[in-house]
Amino acid sequence: MRKTLSALLIAALLSCVLSVPAMAAKGVKNHEHTLDEGTVTQEPTCYNRGWITYTCTDPDCNYVYREPIPATGHNMDDGEYLVRPSCAGMGEMIYHCQNPGCTYVTTHIVPYLGHRMELDEVISEPTCTHAGLTRYTCAREGCHAATMITFPALGHRMDAGVLTVEPTCTSSGTIVYSCTREGCDYTREQWVAPLAHTWDEGTVAIEPTDQYWGRRIYTCTVCGTTTPEAIPPLSAVFRLGIHGGSHYTVDPDTDTTIRSDGELNFHIYIEDGWKAGDDFTVTAARAQIRSEADGSFTVCHVEADTRITVSGIVQG
Ligand SMILES: [Zn+2]
Ligand SMILES: [Zn+2]
Ligand SMILES: [Zn+2]
Ligand SMILES: [Zn+2]
Ligand SMILES: [Zn+2]
Repeated sequence: MRKTLSALLIAALLSCVLSVPAMAAKGVKNHEHTLDEGTVTQEPTCYNRGWITYTCTDPDCNYVYREPIPATGHNMDDGEYLVRPSCAGMGEMIYHCQNPGCTYVTTHIVPYLGHRMELDEVISEPTCTHAGLTRYTCAREGCHAATMITFPALGHRMDAGVLTVEPTCTSSGTIVYSCTREGCDYTREQWVAPLAHTWDEGTVAIEPTDQYWGRRIYTCTVCGTTTPEAIPPLSAVFRLGIHGGSHYTVDPDTDTTIRSDGELNFHIYIEDGWKAGDDFTVTAARAQIRSEADGSFTVCHVEADTRITVSGIVQG
């Protein structure tokens, strides 16, 4: 038993010693390896990596080097319809992996198409004042969807207008506008403001004096209408002697000839034999009153029909 064991051990040791030179001859040589172009020793699949093996080209060297090739992933085809989509219904596509030996499939929902509405019939064309009506139907096969579409009325398309009544200095004119759309006889009139008179330079009819207004007459060179204009008196200030209890009403028709478009200024002084009392006042409703340094008053910007009232004058 012991003998047998020793013999086995020796045999094993011998075989080891004997195999070392053989391994060295075929093993990795200590040199710079020159690798070949490589050989795919295991093809990659959709899911698993493959291998490429490079071998040293030195026949005495058995060095090999393996590099992984990444998994290819699926190579899906362009798909085919499982269910075709319709105007309102979803469809479904199925895609197959084209790589050999792979049975992977996937499906995608395809959105519904929506109707493809096309003009079917013009029921009525829109006019200036009435809406148009048109029917549209879906052009997709097997779909009978239809809808009515209303087009708003066009509104009138007016021309540039024709002056049918010429305006004068005092009367208005008329422009008539007409709709240019075929079949529409709508018209609209527009008022044109009267022209203003064209006045000449005027002629003096009454010469003004120191105290009296004059008058100038203007004539329209188009229609002959005349209009007067007051010419102010040459002397603008009138002296108005006042005594006890005086009042003075400006009267356009008599001595002052004040007109509604004119005005006078009065210098008021107290006549001899009278003097201003404690309650001396001058009032005038439609005029301005100014106290002067010498104790007198000036009533200015007097309009027609103004009553100037002086009170508080006593004898003295
Ligand atoms: Zn080598
Ligand atoms: Zn695949
Ligand atoms: Zn449809
Ligand atoms: Zn019209
Ligand atoms: Zn005129």
